[in-house]
Amino acid sequence: MSQRKLFLLPGDGIGPEITAELVKIIKRLNDRKNAGFEIEEGLVGGAAYDAHGVAISDDDMARALAADAVILAAVGGPKWDSVPYDVRPEAGLLRLRKDMQLFANLRPAICYSALAASSSLKPELVEGLDVLIVRELTGGVYFGEPKEIIDLENGQQRAIDTQVYDTYEIERIAAVAFELARTRDNRVCSMEKRNVMKSGLFWNQVVSRVHEEKFSDVTLSHMLADAGGMQLVRAPKQFDVIVTDNLFGDILSDVAAMLTGSLGMLPSASLGAEDPATGKRKAMYEPVHGSAPDIAGQGIANPLAMIASFAMCLRYSFNMTAEAEALEAAISGVLEQGLRTGDIMAEGCRKVGTSEMGDAVLAAFTEKLG
Ligand code: NAD
Repeated sequence: MSQRKLFLLPGDGIGPEITAELVKIIKRLNDRKNAGFEIEEGLVGGAAYDAHGVAISDDDMARALAADAVILAAVGGPKWDSVPYDVRPEAGLLRLRKDMQLFANLRPAICYSALAASSSLKPELVEGLDVLIVRELTGGVYFGEPKEIIDLENGQQRAIDTQVYDTYEIERIAAVAFELARTRDNRVCSMEKRNVMKSGLFWNQVVSRVHEEKFSDVTLSHMLADAGGMQLVRAPKQFDVIVTDNLFGDILSDVAAMLTGSLGMLPSASLGAEDPATGKRKAMYEPVHGSAPDIAGQGIANPLAMIASFAMCLRYSFNMTAEAEALEAAISGVLEQGLRTGDIMAEGCRKVGTSEMGDAVLAAFTEKLG
C-alpha cells in the first residue's frame, strides 16, 4: 500500500467546517479501498497569523512542499483586515503558489443537471456543461516589470503595468492544456488578443508550435479573448479546454464559473512543473469561494466545492480516475435527491446543513465504491 501524503490547510471562516466533511471522505477511501492517504494539517491565513504572526509558517511551508498534494479551504475575514500587509491572510496563499511554483490554474465549469435552473443562462444552454479553463498563473501583466505609477513632472502621472511572457512560460501552460484535453474531449481553444498585443501574437505562435510538435492529435482552435467572452455566455458548451494567460484567464474563468449557478459548487486546482525523476507535479486544490465569514460557525456552509476539489486531486495528483468519478457522481446524486445547502436552495428541495450534506455525499460515495 503506497502512502499518499495530503497536507490539509483548513484556514479561516467556514474552512474548518468544510474540511471536516472532506476528512470523512478521505477516511472512508482509506477504509474501503486501502488508499493509504496520510493526512497532516497545518495553519494558513488568519489562523496562522494568530498562532505564529505570519500568514504561513516556514514549517508548514516545508510540509506543503513535501506533500503529494495540498488541499486548502479558504483564508481571510474581517478579524484580520488591519494586520500588516505582508502578513495578511492572502499572503499565505500567494507564498504557497510562489514557493510551489504553481503556474497552471485549472478551473472547471461543470453544470450539474439538478442545478441548471440556478444558472443565469437558460437551462438548455448550460445543462451538461463541462468546460475546463487553464489559466497561466505566475506570469503576464500581474507580475511584469516595470509596474509603477510615475510622476511626469508636468502635473500628470503615468501608471504602467507590463504584459510579458517568455517562450518557456507559454510552452509549459500549453502542454498542460493539451495533456488535459487528451483525457477529455481532446479539444483546446487558445485565447489571446493577437490583433492588438505583441504578447498575444507571440502566445498564438508558441501555442501553435507546441501543438504541431507534440500534440497534433489534439484539435486546436484560436479565438480572440473578447470574442471568447461572448461565446462563453452565448454557447458555452462548444468549448472543451480553454487555455489563456493570467489576465484573460482571471476574467474568463469567473465568467464561466457563474454559468454553473453557485460559488459554493466550484473547485479548482493549481499545478506546477512535472518532476522529471518522479513524474509528479506539485499541486494545490482549493474551492474557488472564500472564507464566507458571514456564515462561519453556523454549520450551514456548502461543502461541495471542497469535496469536488478533492475529486480533482484524486484525478490529477493520484491518477485515481474511478474514485474521482465516483465522488463526482456522489455529488451529482445528492443534488438529484433534492438536498441543498442554503446557498443553492430551490423550491421543492430539502435544506440541509454542512454535515448532513457531507454525510449524504459520504453515503452515496460509499455505495459507488462498492
Ligand atoms: P466569499 O466567497 O467568502 O463569500 C461570498 C458569498 O458567498 C458570501 O455571502 C458567502 O456566505 C457565500 N459563500 C461562499 N462560499 C460558500 C459556501 N461554501 N457555502 C455557502 N455560501 C458560501 O467571498 P467574500 O465575502 O468576498 O470574502 C470573504 C473573505 O474570504 C475575505 O476575507 C476574502 O479576502 C476571502 N477570500 C478568500 C479566498 C480564498 O481563500 N481563496 C477567495 C475569495 C475571498
